[in-house]
Amino acid sequence: MKDLAIVLGIRPDVIRASKILKLLNNQNEIEFDFIWSGQHYSENMKDTFFQQLNVPIPNFEFTVDTKSDATIVSSTITNLFNHFEKHKYKAVVFLGDTNTVMGSIAAAQHNIPIVHIEGCMRSYDWRMPEEKYRTVIDHLSDRIYAYLNSYRQQGLNEGISKNIIKVTGNPIVDIINENTKHFDSGLNYLDNEVQNIIENDYVLVTSHRRENILDIESFTNIISLLNSINDENVVFPMGYKTQEILENSDLKLNDNIKVIDPIGYLEFMYLLKNSNFVATDSGTVVEEACIMGIPSIQMRYSTERPEVYDVKASIKFDPTNKNIDFNKILNDVKSLEKNWENPFGDGNSSKIIVEDLIELCNSNDFKKHKPSDYSFDISNSFKE
Ligand code: UDP
Repeated sequence: MKDLAIVLGIRPDVIRASKILKLLNNQNEIEFDFIWSGQHYSENMKDTFFQQLNVPIPNFEFTVDTKSDATIVSSTITNLFNHFEKHKYKAVVFLGDTNTVMGSIAAAQHNIPIVHIEGCMRSYDWRMPEEKYRTVIDHLSDRIYAYLNSYRQQGLNEGISKNIIKVTGNPIVDIINENTKHFDSGLNYLDNEVQNIIENDYVLVTSHRRENILDIESFTNIISLLNSINDENVVFPMGYKTQEILENSDLKLNDNIKVIDPIGYLEFMYLLKNSNFVATDSGTVVEEACIMGIPSIQMRYSTERPEVYDVKASIKFDPTNKNIDFNKILNDVKSLEKNWENPFGDGNSSKIIVEDLIELCNSNDFKKHKPSDYSFDISNSFKE
């Protein structure tokens, strides 16, 4: 029986966990299964990333019913529940705040210890499903890897046991460090038209968050911001849902904005590295921009990554605001001084996580919860 399973399901999971998967693959102290939930399934949202980042392919790949968030979550729970009946892992690892992490309910039902990478991040915006998901999985977990001390403190504030939270740094730094030398090769994957466009100054854009694209006022504000960029070209790799919403709306993008389908990691990082700035609502892209020294506009009402504002690497653009001065936002991002320090860690995060997983598997010590660890008194409800 294998020791550990790691369950992932969307594009940024493969990217962020690529080094963790490779390190796990290259050691022989513990055995692990890599399980793909099936939340993302198309070639350019999944397979391209396995290939470009040299990630071992999953041992088990499920398909989910993608009709709605509810069906994605319920089929993930059912698939994992059935799988865990046959595979008695010592622990199951999840990452982030997606529908896939709700599969942790299946591990909870089997009482298999749960490990959460990216624990205790909080936006304190309870309107975001992601905030609810990450809060739930943190409180189900037996081991939490928090990227920063400030995130750990957020977990402690909620009464999560100090014994289960380990601060690791953010593994996205590891991925950038490891792959920087390949980013220039990304140019070759871009089609000729985009290659021509980016010979001159350009801005990179991504937008996929539901609260932005499903709310017509917010989406209109985002399109208006982009249409206010009139002195340079814009390249916008646009997710399929965003494309669908744009096509079904009356909104129009200006001619200097080039929309393309989602692209691979190397070509995306090439575009990011050479852009004047990026406007994005992606959690990962705003981190990557900050680490790479590229100014960003974060197109979000709230964020779980306030560090990018703290170090003055990013300008906030709240698409829910009714009185936005678009030109001010564009001027502000252009006036950011590119001398901030990367607040996300030193690039050793994946190694720290894998070493800890090996140690915990070997010591069978995932269950670290003790009543005395909690900051509130649960002694009446918790019996050891
Ligand atoms: N990315 C990519 N191709 C694209 C857009 C993004 O490779 O066309 C990468 C980007 O470098 C980052 C990740 O995908 O690592 C971000 O994914 P997304 O914005 O979907 O997720 P989030 O971080 O918001 O969960």
